[in-house]
Amino acid sequence: MRLPEERLTCSCGGSHRLELDAVVIENGALKALASYLRQHSLDKNPLLISDDNTYEASARQAAETLRAEGITPQEHVFVRAGELVPDERALGELMLTLRNRPSVLVSVGAGTITDITRYTASISGLPFVAVACASSMDGYASSVAPLICAGMKETLPSVSPQAIFGDPDVLAAAPARMLQAGFGDLLGKLTAKADWLLGHAWIGESHCPYEQDFVDAAVMTYLTRAEECRPGNPAYAASLLEGLIISGIGIAMAGDSRPASGSEHHFAHYWEIRALKDGRSIPLHGQKVGVATVLIARLYELMQQRAAESGDARLRDVFQKLGAAIPRSDYCRSLLGKAGAPATYSDLGIPKDWVIDAFREAMHIRERFTILRLAEQQGWLADATDRIISEL
Ligand SMILES: [Zn+2]
Ligand SMILES: [Zn+2]
Repeated sequence: MRLPEERLTCSCGGSHRLELDAVVIENGALKALASYLRQHSLDKNPLLISDDNTYEASARQAAETLRAEGITPQEHVFVRAGELVPDERALGELMLTLRNRPSVLVSVGAGTITDITRYTASISGLPFVAVACASSMDGYASSVAPLICAGMKETLPSVSPQAIFGDPDVLAAAPARMLQAGFGDLLGKLTAKADWLLGHAWIGESHCPYEQDFVDAAVMTYLTRAEECRPGNPAYAASLLEGLIISGIGIAMAGDSRPASGSEHHFAHYWEIRALKDGRSIPLHGQKVGVATVLIARLYELMQQRAAESGDARLRDVFQKLGAAIPRSDYCRSLLGKAGAPATYSDLGIPKDWVIDAFREAMHIRERFTILRLAEQQGWLADATDRIISEL
């Protein structure tokens, strides 16, 4: 896969470094992993990290492929009665295996395994390579790790993998909900883009057209093929993963999640925190992002209408400039439908009051200017929330 180019001096005033040096998403990716480890002198004692699901999906085959190529890996498989959680227990468990002095940490999994490994690599200073088992989120290339610390979600600075490998047949065999989550995470880039441009226009936040362009290109390619988002389609699963990795590269090169995460992500994080507090099982990150994108797109539509009717020339001007960057809520909902993904809070099993509360509280999750803050500043948020909720 062709990676976006580094730009050490960019027209936005920033510099965009790329830590990732290879992404291989093709049949035979595991053989390519063996060659990569050898070429980079990481083949003496690699540690493959998986859980009981991803072991069957890919790690067993990865270990066999490495052995056939003359590399003997160590293996660590997390075994849990329910879902593996990226918490103190998991991190401690992996730390204990490091006494065997691995040459490189190789995560074989999706978000959870990759994040546990990423954080362990950043603390131990060991090299880190990722094998992707599902096209489920844009975090593979990321340099931050969302972890659960003392029962709370915390996103900690961490490291990007130096290479990512994905076998299309493995990606296509992942459960439908994981593909839907990847699709939802990409859909969220539409409102993330609107929020970034809004922050640029309203409060003078810096914006990078270069990064925006390559994230846009990735997003549109995969969204317009929504009907193909079904298990058993290796070509689509592989290209969805490429789109997600490019979005993740946007985050890594910006050194900040601004190009790929706005108010729709604040909703998803807010629901996740509520679910953790209540001990409820929660849908996947990207499934929540997809549903939140429809709600935020609707908020944009209402704010655009009010801005057009207001006497505030600057506000009218800002919304005019945003123009086509504001996604239509019907369009977002129909794309989720085509992808077979949940499109409403009730499809996700999220209570209605969590949606109402998210409009009021999610913006305080982090200091970032979004449509939620603008609506609140203008005194329009409560009305808009009532209207959106009444339409649900
Ligand atoms: Zn996301
Ligand atoms: Zn730039």
